[in-house]
Parts: sequence; C-alpha cells; structure tokens
Amino acid sequence: MSMHPKGPLPKKQAQVKLNLSDTETIVCEKCGNGLFIQSFFLKKISALVSPTGQESIIPVQVYSCGNCGHINKSLNPTLEKDSQTEKSKFPSLDV
Ligand SMILES: [Zn+2]
Repeated sequence: MSMHPKGPLPKKQAQVKLNLSDTETIVCEKCGNGLFIQSFFLKKISALVSPTGQESIIPVQVYSCGNCGHINKSLNPTLEKDSQTEKSKFPSLDV
C-alpha cells in the first residue's frame, strides 16, 4: 500500500544566483581604492521652494572613497545639475 501525498511541493523560491565574480567592482576614480564609505550631502532647501514653506535640510546619500574621500562622478547625484547646465550651454539654433 503506497501513499501518494498530494501536498504542495516544498516551494523553491526562485533565487537569482548572483555570481559576484561576474559583477564589476567600482573603484575610486582617483586612487583606485575599492572600499567606499557612506556619506551624505546635506542639501539646504530655502523656505521659498520648500513644500513646507520652511527652510529644511535634505540628506542625499552618497558613497565616498574610504581612502581619499573622492566621490566618483557616477555615484554623485549632485553632479546631474552640472551636466544639465552643460547641456543648456549647447549652442541653440536661433531662428
Ligand atoms: Zn580614492
């Protein structure tokens, strides 16, 4: 006499195997160091543009090189503004 248990199969969670050797290690642009520390930019929002109408400070998390403190361009969210201004510097066609 054999039983065929119809219970649900043990759920195997679809795990994406992450092969760390396939990943790219980000290193510091300046010194090549591969260890970063968590830092914060503190952006001050003036009362004029703040949604609360009060001056406030917003922390923006970044990773800075643990060796020299440099922040890679690709890791620096505050650099976006600069690239935007660069774009606006592009000569526009005046009709
Ligand atoms: Zn560095």
